[in-house]
Amino acid sequence: MNKTLNTILESSKIFTQEGNVATYIPELSKANPNNLGICVVALDGKEYYSGDYDKKFTMQSISKIITLMLALMDNGEEKVFSYVGAEPTGDSFNSIANLEVKNIHKPYNPMINAGAIMTTSLIIGQTIEEKIGRILDFTRKLSNNNDISIDQNTYFSEKETGDRNRSLAYFMKSYNSMQGKVDDILEIYFQQCSIEVSCIDLARIGAVLANDGVLPWSGERVISKHICRITKTIMVTCGLYDASGEFAIHIGIPAKSGVGGGILGAVPKEMGIGVFGPSLDAKGNSIAGIQMMQKLSKKLNLNIF
Ligand code: GLN
Repeated sequence: MNKTLNTILESSKIFTQEGNVATYIPELSKANPNNLGICVVALDGKEYYSGDYDKKFTMQSISKIITLMLALMDNGEEKVFSYVGAEPTGDSFNSIANLEVKNIHKPYNPMINAGAIMTTSLIIGQTIEEKIGRILDFTRKLSNNNDISIDQNTYFSEKETGDRNRSLAYFMKSYNSMQGKVDDILEIYFQQCSIEVSCIDLARIGAVLANDGVLPWSGERVISKHICRITKTIMVTCGLYDASGEFAIHIGIPAKSGVGGGILGAVPKEMGIGVFGPSLDAKGNSIAGIQMMQKLSKKLNLNIF
């Protein structure tokens, strides 16, 4: 497997020269576009990797699956989906259009920014610190990595430049569709996006999802099978925003991307995958990361369809 990953990584390096690193969050513009890493965690707990697999980057939108699962565990399916929908948008991840024109009460799904801000608002806790602490602890548990923490520079950078997210949140608040204090909810959202991970962490989280909520390394159940199924389904339909359809056709793996350059994949009953390449396409997805996922899917016949 390591040999396969090396071959895939080497043949994808050329794609790191395409696209651009994210710049709308200034801290992300410091990323090195030449970085490229991949890790696979099999359901027997064995780990395989290549390239910059241990290089750290921020989760960004990949954190949206963490908060979706936590919100579902805290509130149940019915309540969560009374606040946020489960339909793909075909629009960019930070679009505000649908909120006003189509459905003012509910953001379309929990993988776009508006929907993720809504799910974050549903996390239970007395204080901001308690809520972000629960998100961090859950991420640490799913990645078997107690060192996971928030990159303060990215967090401040997000906070300083997060006016689009503020607009989305105030818009939802203005229609009373979101409860709680906007500033507090965004504080948590900016911090969750700034959680630092490596490809190994992503692949382990993917492996837990692939294993229906049981930690492959200990046998402990941490998420119900039902919540894992909902999460993987939403990853298929909305995980790469308005590129989800094409990704499903060519790769066919439930996945979630982030503008930090990471993509997390969960192949049911098979493996978790973490890839990293910070150069992004116009839709905010890692170009070389998608290439590596596509080659891996073809080589190992991972397409679930
Ligand atoms: N923190 C980013 C934002 O809110 C996350 C977006 C993403 O990864 N697509 O804009």
